[in-house]
Amino acid sequence: MATAAFDTSAVRAALEEYPPLSAVQARVAVVGGFVRDVWLGREPRELDLVVEGDAAALARSLGGEVAVHDAFGTATASGEGWRIDLAMARRERYPAPGALPEVEPASIEEDLARRDFSVNAIAVTLPDGELIAVEHAREDLAAGRLRVLHERSFVDDPTRLLRLARYAERLGFEVEPLTARLARDAGFETLSGGRLGAELRLVLAEADPVAVLARVAGKLPVALDPPLVEAALGLAPPESDRGMLVLGASVSEADWLEGLELTARERAVVLACRDARVPADTTPSALWRAWRGAPIEAVAVAGARGDGEAARRWIEKLRHVRLEIGGDDLIAAGLSEGPEIGHRLERTLAAKLDGDLAGGREAELRYALERET
Ligand code: ATP
Repeated sequence: MATAAFDTSAVRAALEEYPPLSAVQARVAVVGGFVRDVWLGREPRELDLVVEGDAAALARSLGGEVAVHDAFGTATASGEGWRIDLAMARRERYPAPGALPEVEPASIEEDLARRDFSVNAIAVTLPDGELIAVEHAREDLAAGRLRVLHERSFVDDPTRLLRLARYAERLGFEVEPLTARLARDAGFETLSGGRLGAELRLVLAEADPVAVLARVAGKLPVALDPPLVEAALGLAPPESDRGMLVLGASVSEADWLEGLELTARERAVVLACRDARVPADTTPSALWRAWRGAPIEAVAVAGARGDGEAARRWIEKLRHVRLEIGGDDLIAAGLSEGPEIGHRLERTLAAKLDGDLAGGREAELRYALERET
């Protein structure tokens, strides 16, 4: 473990927007992505603290809201404009490949040794700014290189395969040759679907999830088509679940999805995207029949696979078209309640979409009342 007099002032300066950490009694350090990103001149995404002792007690001492998470002794403290994740320094033992580790309290130095890659196994103690890093960490950070800390790393925890792909892509780092070989020989077989699904969500939230997936494509049932995904993302409106769109456009085995513990909504989006096609008839009313109730992400994928203009018309305009009348108007005009009201409204909307109505409430009401179902 290398400890060194290194200029850690940039890390401490980056902490200015957080509550003062100088009053803390326990040995505590900023760790992982925060240190890495500040040194790389990147905006850090979140602040992780590791503490030799009780993380929940430290969280409470910061003021603000505190949530204590799990048996691993992790907590989150947050307030106006800040959020800090805290964890007890620990050593880990993997009872079986792919299983969750058994943990026990340890020093910050030992905690770094359980981490994924050398560039993430760097800590800066508070308040004095002592740098603690595993072997190779600083040279790897300087060279832009990802290196596991030991040969069993991917066997112990295959989620690290996805983490490797994410960092390589996001940071533009190369993969150190032994790490690359170990990654090539490893797979996700021992990993539970739930943990794989959780890690996949992180992949799908990256700026270029297809590029990340491409790095592990041989290990997952996906068939990647970058231009298709790009076209679909170009069509998808802002409220879309872009991650699930990417997964749905790429997945090649529906069965595999079952184990991933997706939410019902996520699963619906993925399955709809997987099978999405533009119908042969692209008149507005036909699009409405095909796509009403369909996840908007699936329409975007359908457009990328076929008639993009039809999908664009649906997304930008047709899906927003509504009648000015409702069932109450037809009942007030003398029709009795029942399914026929719905049929008449649907046919009237179809006519409105196809431009067969003069426009306005009166024309809609007349059309809905006059026509036989
Ligand atoms: P980012 O949030 O930018 O993706 P990060 O490094 O902050 O990167 P987190 O997922 O928040 O990533 O994890 C925090 C730190 O915990 C990591 O830097 C790493 O040291 C460690 N870590 C996270 N997941 C693992 C894992 N599966 N195996 C080993 N260490 C891990």
